[in-house]
This record gives sequence, structure tokens and C-alpha cells, in this order.
Amino acid sequence: MEASPTLNLQKLALLPKQTPTQDFKRWNSIIKHHTKLKDDQAILKIYTQMEAQGIYADSTVLPLVLKACGKLQAIEKGKKIHNEIRDTDFVNDVRVQTALVDFYCKCGLIDDARNVFDGITERDLVCWNAMVCGFVGCGCYEEGVRLVREMEREKVRPNSVTVVALVSAFGELGDLMCGKEVHGYCLRNGFFDWNAHVGTALVGFYSRFNVKVASDLFEMMDSRNVVSWNAMISAYLDAGESWRALELFERMVMDGFRCDFVTMLMVIQACSEVGSRELGMQVHQLAIKYGFINDLFIVNALLNMYGKNGSLGSSLELFESAPTKDIALWNSMLCLYAEIGSLEKAMALFIRMRLEGILEDERTIAILLSSFEDLDNGLRNGRSLHGHVLKSAIENNKCIGNALLGMYAKRNSIQDAFQVFDDVEDSDVVSWNTLILALARNGLRGEAWELFGMMQQCNINPNSHTIISIIAACDEESFLNIGRSIHCYVIKHDIEINPSLNSALTEMYMNCNKELTALNLFESFPDKDLISWNSFIASYVKNNQPHKALLLFRRMITQVVPNLVTIINVLSSCTYMVNLPEGKCLHAYTIRRNSSLGFDLSLANAFLSMYARCGSIQNSERIFNDLPRKNVVSWNAMIDGYGMHGRGYEAMLAFSEMLEDGMEPNGITFVSALSACSHSGLVPKGLQLFDSMVQDFCITPELAHYGCVVDLLGRAGCLSEAREFISSMPIPPDASVWRALLSACRVYSETKLAKTVFEKLIELEPTNAGNYVLLSNIYAAAGLWSEVSKLRMQIEENGLKKPPGKSWIIVRSTVHSFTAGDKSHPQSNKIYAELGSLLSCIKNVGYVPDLRWVLHEEEDEEKIKRLFSHSEKLAVAFGLISASGGTPISIAKNLRVCGDCHEFCKYVSKLVGREIVLRDCSRFHHFVNGHCSCKDYW
Ligand SMILES: [Zn+2]
Ligand SMILES: [Zn+2]
Repeated sequence: MEASPTLNLQKLALLPKQTPTQDFKRWNSIIKHHTKLKDDQAILKIYTQMEAQGIYADSTVLPLVLKACGKLQAIEKGKKIHNEIRDTDFVNDVRVQTALVDFYCKCGLIDDARNVFDGITERDLVCWNAMVCGFVGCGCYEEGVRLVREMEREKVRPNSVTVVALVSAFGELGDLMCGKEVHGYCLRNGFFDWNAHVGTALVGFYSRFNVKVASDLFEMMDSRNVVSWNAMISAYLDAGESWRALELFERMVMDGFRCDFVTMLMVIQACSEVGSRELGMQVHQLAIKYGFINDLFIVNALLNMYGKNGSLGSSLELFESAPTKDIALWNSMLCLYAEIGSLEKAMALFIRMRLEGILEDERTIAILLSSFEDLDNGLRNGRSLHGHVLKSAIENNKCIGNALLGMYAKRNSIQDAFQVFDDVEDSDVVSWNTLILALARNGLRGEAWELFGMMQQCNINPNSHTIISIIAACDEESFLNIGRSIHCYVIKHDIEINPSLNSALTEMYMNCNKELTALNLFESFPDKDLISWNSFIASYVKNNQPHKALLLFRRMITQVVPNLVTIINVLSSCTYMVNLPEGKCLHAYTIRRNSSLGFDLSLANAFLSMYARCGSIQNSERIFNDLPRKNVVSWNAMIDGYGMHGRGYEAMLAFSEMLEDGMEPNGITFVSALSACSHSGLVPKGLQLFDSMVQDFCITPELAHYGCVVDLLGRAGCLSEAREFISSMPIPPDASVWRALLSACRVYSETKLAKTVFEKLIELEPTNAGNYVLLSNIYAAAGLWSEVSKLRMQIEENGLKKPPGKSWIIVRSTVHSFTAGDKSHPQSNKIYAELGSLLSCIKNVGYVPDLRWVLHEEEDEEKIKRLFSHSEKLAVAFGLISASGGTPISIAKNLRVCGDCHEFCKYVSKLVGREIVLRDCSRFHHFVNGHCSCKDYW
């Protein structure tokens, strides 16, 4: 049978009709012949004819037929054969059984395979290997490994086929140790010396861990095939060593190996990563020489390569010269245009594509839509694409409709979104969800809820995504009832509560001030994952309960491994509470877990900032200096840190080092630098910075920058300059700008200016009681008591609440919090006793209570009493009796420190010989030996 296959087929197909004999030998030999030709389709066809004639295949041919079924994924056919032979002797033939195992594995029916395998009584090596390879091929790596152990227990020795499967299983499992053991086994049994497959598998295995080891192994291989070369080239590519991949390819060609399709694709990819146009052209020539150029995959890869190394012309040439173009090729060309922002060309190409009768796919639309996203006129372009899509009447395509819907939703263009939504004929749950999410995100709660109701009327069943979108709109207490009814809906309709939905429900209850319900929901959820924990911690942070966030974190780490999001959330709790000890613990924890969290610059920056904001600028400096590379956030955090601690010169030094380092400052850098100047009274330097920001760095000043300059001038007593500066602003000043000036009025007792500024301020912020308090501070200091009481009446009439002043201190990881006149602390008596003795001591050395800081009009004696129980003083006294030794006493206050308490801290620091560190809402005060780092400049 040496004739050509087509000739044979025709002849043989006629044969049975002419001679309806039972000559099954002949049939079988035909099948064997097709097996040699690897023509699986023909095998199945012949077998069907055999069946029709009632002729059975024998045990040598059945496996061949089953193998063809496996390759063609002909599940029904294979199962039919299995059924037919169930009552025959074939079912006990190990060759047939093995073929069945192999067939089921190839079709992904691993349980069926295992059933057949378990029924085999006389298992040989081939049979074991079929099952092992089946497990590994279906991604059941652990089962594969277990089966090899079982096989060894039954005294069947693994061969090279087993070993190749095992190595790839350990590779997928990331198990270096076990892989090495297998390597040892190969060496002992000499597999490595003669079998290219084993060597190749090991190269692939080691390349997952260390490309150098893989390359050493590759060099030691005695026998290599194309697949081995491909494995090593791929290893270099994955490791990002494109040059080496190309060098190896050169050697491969020199060694006389003929590269295959896979090699070619990888080499093109390497070229595109190296970015050399010349190399790219050489590879292109090779592709032509080796005859790959008619393959659309290769053409597509070359086209992308030219696009990446900037030869768009060559890409276009290749595109035009391709004899046939599939949708992938059109998409690649569109993508190249979209990437360089040449939207007109992209649109023209798209239209041409349609004219040539090629129907776009989802990727086409996604490319076009995403290319509009960053453009200012993106919405307009999106609309014109939408128009085009409409014209082409592919609106019925749900996927495209949903893509458009998503684009409008992302751009918060609700009306357009509704338009698309109405046009999509068979809208599905994704369409509804997209629209509901867009409405909820834009605060259109009513519409979102209405749509939720309509959706059910249209018989579209909401899924967990729907609920997550809709429940996000219930974000304050007044929506609690709606939130509850949605929760009921979930339970009633049996919607699967996955971790994300459970987190969304929990968050809803937290936001609606139902902490207990939220906590119950969280605790009783059995499948808590990382997201559940992170989301609950974030809820605590968001709802100003940082202490609970920390407690929850400690519990969390006993159950799941935290990720970056967790650490950054918990870190923000530490920062908020000025909880330095806890921040340090977290730092140590992160360093210990370094390998799993990895070095992450954003994490390092978060720690840097935490230390600065918790008072330990030395630790910030240490982290900063150890950073292997710094980004603009690192520099900003360092400059900001120096500024908060009143170390203006260091801040300026850091700023100039940043420039020397070649780092480009951004708007935030200047906010930090300007406020550093302001905190340290560096007026000329600050003004110069502001000029330089505009002139040299072309940064348009924003409100925050103007606020800093007003603060800078105001603190330095240049009030009229500050006033003028505000009038010269090209944008309308906001409340924070005016407040900066009002604060300056307080320091310099400018009652007249204060009144005008205050009027501006309450126009912008009519309900902020803090502004009234600030002005009444100024009047009180000037002794204008009638004005003070007028203000107090205004506050009461408008029903405004002044935020209560609160100071806290952390002792042995417990937060002790105090308000003015607080007697709720268990050690209250001791605290007041300590405070009394402190006061009498410092009075002896010159401290005079500054009654101007009492806002109430009352007898001096009462005022003194009130002044002496300010929250800062209580916290200092408690700090002195509870934290022994010479460590600094670290206190935080939610508002600005009061002037009398500031004076008190200075005296106490000298009296007891200890540093007091106080962080108020705007900066740090370090009190040492009777002086404050702010130089009374705050
Ligand atoms: Zn005070
Ligand atoms: Zn100070």
C-alpha cells in the first residue's frame, strides 16, 4: 500500500460494497494505514462503515480508533464504542482499557478515565502512564503525583514518560524540592543522557525558578530536539532576557536545527521586545525563507513587532500584502493605530473593514472604545462609533451593545447609556447591571432602585453583581430600610452569597450605622476570604474606628495571609491614631513576611509617611535612605514629614536633592514644600518656590498652593500682603484659603480684618462651627465678650455643633482618650492629682494661666478651673504617671492645640526633663527643655 492516500481512500471506500465479506483483517489494515498517515477523520469514517457492515475491529485496531476519538474530541463516538464493547472480551484487554483511559483523559472526562483505570486488574507501565499523564494534562497535578507514588508501591518502575509528566506536575505546583528529586532519579537511571523529552521537561521546570539553572542544564543535554531549543528560548523570554533568546536562536540555526512554527513566533516576540528595527527585518526575511509567511499567526506577530519598534509603515505594508486577512489581523492593525492615537486612521480602517465584508468582533469594538477613553472628545468619538454600529444594524449583538453601554457608563453619560440600553434588543443581566451601577455611582439612587424593580418585571433575574451595585447606593443611615429589604430579597430569592456580596452587605450595614448587624454578618459568614477581611477593616477605617480596625487585623492574621491592601489600610489606622508602637509592630511584621509581600515601593512609602505622621522622623529618614529607588511619592512624603516637624531647612534640602536626582516635582511636592516653609517661617524662600513652580516647572497653582502662600504670609504677620494675594488669585478662593487668613488674624489679634474674613468664610461654609469658634477665640483674646456671646447665640440658633476637642495617648498599645473636664478614666483621681502638682510646680517658675483661651464669660476662678482640665493637659498628666523612663510622651489632638496648653507643655517638658511630642490637626510640636520646635509659630 504505497500509493498516495487519496487514491487509496477512493478505492477502498468502494471495496466493501462490492465484496460484502467478513474480511475484518482487511478493514483493520486500512485503519492501520490511516493511522500511519495520521488521518484521524478517515479512521473514524472507516470505522463507521465497518460498524454498518457489522464487522468488529480487533484489540489492536480498537485502540487506534479510540485514539482518533480522543484527538478529535469525539466524545459521543468514543462513549458509544465503550458501550458496545462492554459485554465483549475486549473490555478486559489491557490495551483497549488503556486506550479508553487515554480517550477519556484527552476529552477531559477525568472521572470516567479513573473508573476505567480502577477496573483494570493487570496494569502495565503504559496503563499507569496513561492515567498519570491524564491527570497532569487535566490540571489535577496532585492526583498525578499521588498516582506515581501508588505506582511505585505496586513495584512498577517509572520510565521517561512518567518522569516527564511528573516534572511538569511539580513545575505547575511550584515544588522545587520534589522536582529536584525527580531530576536525581533521572540522573541515576540515565534518562537524561539519551532522552531529549526528559531534558526538555527539566529545562522547562527549572526555568520557572531560575533561568540560569535551566540554561546550565540545557548546556549539559546530550540529545536535543527542536522542542528542547524552544523550551530554552521560551525560558529566556519569560525571564525578560530577550537578547539571550535571540542569541540562542542564532546558535540553534548554526547547529543545523530547523526551527518550527513555535520557534518563529517566539523569535518574533523577542525581536519586538528588543525593539530593534534591523533585527526585526532579518527575522522577517527568515520567516519568508522558512516558508512561514503565509501563516496568519506569523504575519500577525510580525505586524505587531513592526508596530512596537516604531515601523508602522512596515506593519501597514505587511498588512496590505497579506493575501487573506482574518479579523485578528484587522484588529492588530486597528490596535496599532489606536495606540499611537491616530483615531482617524483607525476609524477609516474600521470602515474599510466593514466594506470588505469583514464583521467586527468584540475585540474590535473594545479596541475602538478603549482608544476613545483617554481623549477629551472621547465621548463624541464614542457616539460616532455608536452611530456607525447602529447603521450597520449590529445592535442586536448583545456583547457590542454592552461594550457601548459600559463606555457611556464609565464616562457617566447616563442619557447615552439609557439610549443604548433601549436599543439593545435582548438585554441580559450584564446590561442591566451596567446601567444600575452607573446610576448608583452617579447618586441617582431612586432611578437605580426603579430599574432594579423593572428588571424583575422583565424576568431578568438579578445576580450577586446586581445586588452589589444596588446596595452600594445605601450608604447612609436614612437608606437602612431599603438596604434591609434588598438583603431580604437576596435571602428570599436564594441569590448565592459569595464573599464579595457578603462584604457589600456588611459594608452597607456599617455605613448605615448598624455595626452589630454588620459584625454578625461578617462573623457568621463561613467562607471569609481576604476580600472579606480587607473590606471589614476598610469599613472600620472609613467609619473612624481605627482601633477596631487594628484589633480585627490581629485576628485576621491568625486566619488568612494579608496582602498589600490590608497593610496599607491598617497603616492608615496607625497614622490616624498616631499609634507609633502599633505602626512599628506592623513594620516588623511586614519585614518578616517580606518574601510574600515582596518589596513594594508604595508600601515603603506608606511606612515612611506613617513614621513621619506618628512623630518618628528618624525612622522615616532611615526608610527613605534605604530605598533602592525612590519615586516622586517618596520624595513628597519626606518633604511633607520634615515640614510637619518644623524642619523647614531639611525640607528645602530634600527638595533640592530631589531636583539633583533628576526627579520631576509635581503639584503635591509644592504643597508639601510650601507648607514646610510656612511651618518654619521661611517667607522669602516660600514665595520664591511659588514663583519657581509657575515659571520653571509650568505647574498651574491650585487652591492648595494658594492656601499655603496665604498661610505663609499670614503666619509671618504680613496680613495685608496675604489679603492682597487673595484678591490677585485668578480662581475664586475656597474656605481653606480664607481660614488660613482668619487663623493668622488670631495670632496677630486682628479683630477688624477677622470679621471681614469670617463673613466670606461663612458664605462658603455656613454650617462649619469651627469657623465660629475661631472667630470667637479672636474676640475672646481681645476681651470683646459681648461679641463672643453674640457668636455663641448664632451657633445655637443655627443648630451648629462644634466638634469636641479630644486628646489621646497610647500606653502599652491601649488608647487612652480624654475630653475637656473628663473624669471617666479609671485613674482619674491620680491624673488630677498629678496635674495639680505639675501646675503648682510650674507656677513657681513663671507659668501664668492664659485666660484668653477660655471662651466662656465667667469668673476668673471658673476660667482657671476650665483651663486646667483641657484634654491636652489630662493626656500629658496621664502620660507622666503611666510611661516611666526618659521616653518621649506622645500625644495627639484632633483640633489645633490651645495656646495655654502649648505654654503648659513647654514648662512641663523642662520641669520633668522629658520630651513631649504633640501632634495636632496641622503639625507636630516637639517640646524639649522649655522650648517648642514650632518656635511658637503655629
Ligand atoms: Zn488648652
Ligand atoms: Zn509648638
